[in-house]
Amino acid sequence: MDLVYVSTRNADEKVTASQAILKGLAGEGGLFVPTNIPALDVSMDELAKMSYQETAYEVMKLFLTDFTEEELKYCINSAYDSKFDTEQIAPLVKADGAYYLELFHGSTIAFKDMALSILPYLLTTSAKKNHVKNEIVILTATSGDTGKAALAGFADVPGTKIIVFYPKNGVSPIQEKQMVTQKGDNTFVVGINGNFDQAQTGVKQMFSDTGLAKVMDDAGYQFSSANSINIGRLVPQIVYYVYAYAKMYENGEIGKGEKINVVVPTGNFGNILAAFYAKNMGVPIAKLICASNENKVLYDFFRTGIYDKNREFILTSSPSMDILISSNLERLIHRIAGNDAGKNAELMKALISDGRYEITQEMREQLTDFYGNFTGESKTAEVIKSLYESTGYVIDTHTAVAAGVYAEYKAETGDIDTKTVIASTASPFKFTRSVMNAIDSGYDRMTDFELVDELSKIANVAVPQAIEEIRSAPVLHDTVCEVEEMEAVVKRFLAIEK
Ligand SMILES: *Cc1c(COP(=O)(O)O)cnc(C)c1O
Repeated sequence: MDLVYVSTRNADEKVTASQAILKGLAGEGGLFVPTNIPALDVSMDELAKMSYQETAYEVMKLFLTDFTEEELKYCINSAYDSKFDTEQIAPLVKADGAYYLELFHGSTIAFKDMALSILPYLLTTSAKKNHVKNEIVILTATSGDTGKAALAGFADVPGTKIIVFYPKNGVSPIQEKQMVTQKGDNTFVVGINGNFDQAQTGVKQMFSDTGLAKVMDDAGYQFSSANSINIGRLVPQIVYYVYAYAKMYENGEIGKGEKINVVVPTGNFGNILAAFYAKNMGVPIAKLICASNENKVLYDFFRTGIYDKNREFILTSSPSMDILISSNLERLIHRIAGNDAGKNAELMKALISDGRYEITQEMREQLTDFYGNFTGESKTAEVIKSLYESTGYVIDTHTAVAAGVYAEYKAETGDIDTKTVIASTASPFKFTRSVMNAIDSGYDRMTDFELVDELSKIANVAVPQAIEEIRSAPVLHDTVCEVEEMEAVVKRFLAIEK
């Protein structure tokens, strides 16, 4: 029997995995969730011996039940290949007592590659399975990393086009350069005069606009999403938590059944939700530690049960976490509401109308797996500097937010013995200036690429291919628009008349 996916806002909207991947977003703004989280059906002893690709198959086959073995293995093997600069795909590095799970060895050196390198294959396979004739238009809002990873994944994939919106002044210079130099005839990159939430809201509006869908269909197009709301993003992210645990077990770092903590630097709540799913599949995880930067909506939510986005939006040195509406949290809310779509929809309606909602005491009691905290800007820099000085290991700003929260967690709870995995979500080379300034403010006078070479020297790590590529690459995308113009820009790119 196929695993059924339902909308978080309408229990009557039920689809298969491949249909959920194709649609991206459910009707009425809902997200698709599996009706139950399947349990792993292989033992940890078996998983311990598996490669990343084999582990991916064991996890993904349980969620994408309408894919054949051949289809799924084709997707996995096409994604996790030499695009990654290590055969381990997601290596663990032990530093200062914690295990850093490096999720940045793919083509754009951030963790979004873990899912976006496979999504194009899942999507085109899903289209074939469902006899889709339209060309698929991937519409994405990005706070920096998703955009480039999606562009890299979809560039020149037949039957697809990709349009990426990013906040013009809200991404790092290297992130921007990575995107605007993207090759591929089917790629479009647009800076908006607004922040990430506005970009994301604009994209969501286009998705739920049935009039626009009709216009698109007449022109032979249909939208799909590469944002982390697509279950084709979420499911591949579960894999590396299973893999990390299995490798720690294999290497004798933990004993059979020993519980570990997982710390995740969080923005849209996708990565940590994947860890929660891994726990529910049977991976022995104790606490899911949710790390925020100064945009600490989630920290406040875990402390008070109130989600409130009515606050100043702060630009930080960890821009991929500068988010006030954590879209994937809705999947957790739906679950702790007893999978009650009506109740969830009501809360999400309040979020749209009032910018806030409060969950019940009964719902709060189901959040005991989670611990939330945040790391401020100066502490983030201190964490980078002190880890470098004590171990020689250099982490990026997002990972430093997580490491800072882990230190807080240990101090607050006294839980210093549980082995802990910190999701390391970006290479320090992606946020070189912030990282180098943290280590020594004297570096600030150097140019971006001088800093890259200096980082390579002090960290004793080769400059990643993704950075080498953009040193001299020409800018191929220069469109900038207002928030209100997003739909018009899409129509212009697709040559659809108003
Ligand atoms: C996207 C991103 C995050 C946040 O991940 P979510 O799944 O949105 O919570 C953290 N760090 C980096 C480097 C990212 O690119």
